[in-house]
Parts: sequence; C-alpha cells; structure tokens
Amino acid sequence: MKALRRCMILSHSFDLHYRNLSAIANVKLDSQDLVWVGTNTTQVSNLQKVLQECARERAPMEGKACHGLIICAGLQEDTFTSNMLINMYSKCGLGDSARKVFDEMPQRSLVSWNTMIGSYTQNKSEEEALYLFMKMQREETQFSEFTISSVLCACAAKFAIFECKQLHAFALKVSIDSNVFVGTALLDVYAKCNAVEDAIRVFESMPERNAVTWSSMVAGYVQNKLYEEALILFHRAQMIGLEHSQFTISSVLSACACLAALIEGKQLHAVLHKAGFDANIYVASSLIDMYAKCGTIKEGYVIFSCVEEKNVVVWNALVSGFSRHARSIEAMISFEKMQQMGVRPNEVTFVSVLSACGHMGLVEKGRKYFDMMIKDHNLSPNVFHYSCMVDILGRAGLIHEAKEMIDKMPFDATPSMWGSLLASCRIHKKLEFAEVAAQKLFEIEPNNAGNHVLLSNIYAANKKWEEVVRARKLLKDSKAKKERGKSWIEIKDKVHTFMVGERNNPRIAEIYLKLEDLLEEMKKLGYRGETEHDLHDVEENRKQELLMHHSEKLTLAYGLMCLPSSAPIRIMKNLRICGDCHSFMKFASSITGREITVRDTNRFHHFKNGFCSCGEFW
Ligand code: ZN
Ligand code: ZN
Repeated sequence: MKALRRCMILSHSFDLHYRNLSAIANVKLDSQDLVWVGTNTTQVSNLQKVLQECARERAPMEGKACHGLIICAGLQEDTFTSNMLINMYSKCGLGDSARKVFDEMPQRSLVSWNTMIGSYTQNKSEEEALYLFMKMQREETQFSEFTISSVLCACAAKFAIFECKQLHAFALKVSIDSNVFVGTALLDVYAKCNAVEDAIRVFESMPERNAVTWSSMVAGYVQNKLYEEALILFHRAQMIGLEHSQFTISSVLSACACLAALIEGKQLHAVLHKAGFDANIYVASSLIDMYAKCGTIKEGYVIFSCVEEKNVVVWNALVSGFSRHARSIEAMISFEKMQQMGVRPNEVTFVSVLSACGHMGLVEKGRKYFDMMIKDHNLSPNVFHYSCMVDILGRAGLIHEAKEMIDKMPFDATPSMWGSLLASCRIHKKLEFAEVAAQKLFEIEPNNAGNHVLLSNIYAANKKWEEVVRARKLLKDSKAKKERGKSWIEIKDKVHTFMVGERNNPRIAEIYLKLEDLLEEMKKLGYRGETEHDLHDVEENRKQELLMHHSEKLTLAYGLMCLPSSAPIRIMKNLRICGDCHSFMKFASSITGREITVRDTNRFHHFKNGFCSCGEFW
C-alpha cells in the first residue's frame, strides 16, 4: 500500500518529466510505460539505462520519476537496480534518499555498501562514511579494497590521521595493504595529514603503482612543501616512462614556482608543449604563474598572449604576476583591459590589484578598487582584501586609519596584518601603534622571534635604548626561535642551498674570500654594515662579521663565482630580506653591473644599478 502511494506520487512527477527522460537517455519511452506493470526485459534494461543517464547528467527530478517506475515494475527489491538508485541519488547530491534506498534493501551485497560509503565520501559526509564502515564491520559484512580506499578518502577529507592509522593496521591484518588502490589512498591521507614520512614509507613499499599513485605522491610532496623531493620523484616517474596527467604536471609546475627553479620549469614547459597540454587554459595559467614566480614575467606574458580564449583564471595569473614584481602600472592596465574584453574580475583579481596599489603607495586608487569591488561587482571583501588595505594605508602613513580598518573588519586580524602594521610603524616612526601591534603579535605568534626583532629595531630607530634592552631581554627569556635563514640559487638545473653561517659547502672558503673582496669595494662607495638588524648580544665588530654570514650574501657570492659574467643572478630566501642585505645587494648590483633578483617571503626585489624595484618598501 505504502509502495503504491509512493508510486502514484512519483508517477505524477514522471508525467512532467518523461519527455526529458527520453531525451536524456535517447531511448523511446512512451506514456504507456507509465501504467506498465510487470517485467519486460527490454523495458527493465531501458529503465536502468535511463537511471544511469540521470546519474551522469545529475538530473534528480527525472531520477525520482524513474524511481517511481521502478516501484511500479516491482523492481525495488532488486539489489542491482537498488545499487543504481543509490548511485543516482548520491551523484545528484541527495544523500538522504540514497540512504533510504539502502536502508530499505532486503539484501545488500558488497556493492551496495561500497556505493553508499562512496556516496557519503563524495557528498562530504565523511563521518557517516566512517560510521557506516563500522556498522559494516559489526555486521561482519565482507569488504573489498574499494571499501577501504573509499573510507580512506573520507579520512583524507577529514584529516583523520588516527582513523587512517587504524585502517592501515586493519589493511595489514587482512593483507590488502599491497593493493594499489588501498596503498594510493593510504599515502594520500598521510600526505594530507602532514605525515609525509608515513606517506613515503607506504609509497616505497608498494609492489605495484599506477599513474594515480605517482601523481598523489608528487602532490603529497608539494603539499608538504618538499618541492625538491617532488621534482626528484617526478624525474623517477619520467625515467620509467610514465604518462603524466595534467594534475601531476600542475603539481610539478607549482613546485618549480615555489623553488623558483626556472630551468626545471622551462623543461617542463617543453614537455607540456610536446604533449599538446599547453593549449589548455589551466595549464597556461600555471605556466604564467610559474614564470612570474621564477622572476621572468616577460616569458609569462608571451604565454598569456598565445592563449586564444582568455578567461578570468588566465587574466588573474597575469595581473598577479605583474603585481608580484611591483610592476603596478602593468597590473592596473591589465585589470582595465580584462574588463574591456568583457571578463569580470573576481576576488582573486582584486587581491592582486590592491596589492599593486600597495607597492606604489596609491591610497586613493586602493580605496577606489575596494569600493568598486563591493558596489560594482557585488563581491564581499575577504581577509586578504582587508590585509591589502591595511598595508596600503599603513605604508602611506595612515596608521590610525589602518588600525581602524583592523578593528572594524568582520574577521580576526591575521598575524600578517599586525606584521604589516608593525612594519609601517617602523617606517613612519609611530611608537604607540607599534607597541599595540607587537603585543598582538606576541600573543598570536609567541614563537616568532622576527616580531621581537622588528619591535627592537623600532625602539632603536626612536633612540629608546632602555626599551631596546628590554625587548632583547624579552626575546632571550621567551622561547621564541628565529627560523634559520636559508637561501638558494639554481645553477645549471641544480639547486644550491646555503644556510646562515654555512660551513659545509666545498667551496665555502672561496665564497668568503669573494665576499671580502666585494665588501672592500663597497666600503669605498659608502656601504656600512647596518648592524641594528642583528640582535646578537655581541661586540660591534663581531656583528659586522655575523651580518656577512647571512645566507643571501653567501648565495650571491656563489652565484657570482659560478654564473657567466652577463647572467642575472636570482636568489630565493625563506625569510624576509634584512635591511643590511637589502643595501648590500644594491651596492653589489652597481659594482658588478649585474641584475640581481631576490625573492623573499614577501615579494621580489629587482636590484639594478644600485636601486631596488621595491622602492624601499618590504
Ligand atoms: Zn641579511
Ligand atoms: Zn627591495
């Protein structure tokens, strides 16, 4: 009786949709099917075909109508058809209906459980997926490698490392850990949960790996910021002649971008070109992004020009590329141009143009874009947009207004906002705001020594010596540690890394000699070591010496030694460049006549003829 009522309701909706249904499935269904009862093999297979189409096309209304017909035909108890229904409902995002079908099934086979668990994972109801798996175990239902890999996917989405470890142990117990799907899912969860060591162990112990396994491991390295390892693994995959998916390529491209490994990036570009992938709009934007981050926006622009149908993603890659290089005018022109071409800017575009305004100190323009975004484009500013505004206002010396912006915005301020305010206070010598910002930073990031250094520098610049001593003592007493400075340079497709005070490089003696020579010449031109950037409690002489050990200086010397005399030198640094290294690079660029680029955590500094593109803002 209940079934009949449901059939009537559903048939009604079928009435509205059966035309669509036949169109979708490209099968002939006439209204006679509506009153059809009993089973006819052709009709049953037609119905199943329609159901699959509904799942593929994500057509829930037609799917429901089909469900009605299935009940009419008395097929609701058929396990095979029910599995298809679960699949259809879950693809259409109707998890509850899927579960209802599942619960009403008189008999479940393994496929039903797998489909239902898969459905939960797909529809982001990961807890239900885990719960159902537990139920499955309680009922002692058999499971397969697909069940385990589905549940692992749920773990990956929830960053549930504990559950993942349990499943791993379970997989070992029932000897399916060597299955390629299970292994791949396991390493994926480990990598996503930052347990990259475990991910590597799983990867290396797998007897069989497919393309997804390789690409998950490459992506895993990238997620965990192990870019060099990602590149090495990618080469291993190339050696065994593996076909690369666009997904792998985009992971490797972003590794190149993060390492600023231009030579690697170019080689990859060649691979992409050969495979015909570079015409793809998303690959093109990854390439533009890679070239921009590697410091060669020109080549990024060439790729941009070749893209025929430019969408917002491609435009964004260009605008952000220009902005990153402090080429604010070009960033703004591109922004105007994209609109002329009928492409609507999105949130990402506005972050780039606003930060371009920040580089140039364009307060009014910044305000205009911020308003335009809300009024003309109906976008609500997120934390990044506010961050840019705080930066723009602060740099322009409107510290009070910047602080107001932070107080008024609908989010908690991020450390980078307070950091930017603190930096602005240093430039504009606003002590009282500096103390507020520093206090906030000490609360949010108690272990970041950089904040203590900044505040102490501000006190020093204001000649508040007692406070300088206090700030240094505070740093000494706190557990704050300064992340060790590290810089690197790519020479002949190999990345060479230098730590602060590096001793291990085989050519280190030569490097220090080279630095000595440079220093002599610079001193003649008026360079003085700016020791206020060093917080070590030591003599002035020793400080001068310590400054010479900063990793970017060592890297520069090495670059000068190894690269041909006309080649530009591109250095990457894991922290913000210090004031002394900044002025050192300016002098070095005029003495050697080289173009020197330093990419620090914040931006690119292009040094040429004694000047830097950042205009002393960093
Ligand atoms: Zn330095
Ligand atoms: Zn600079």
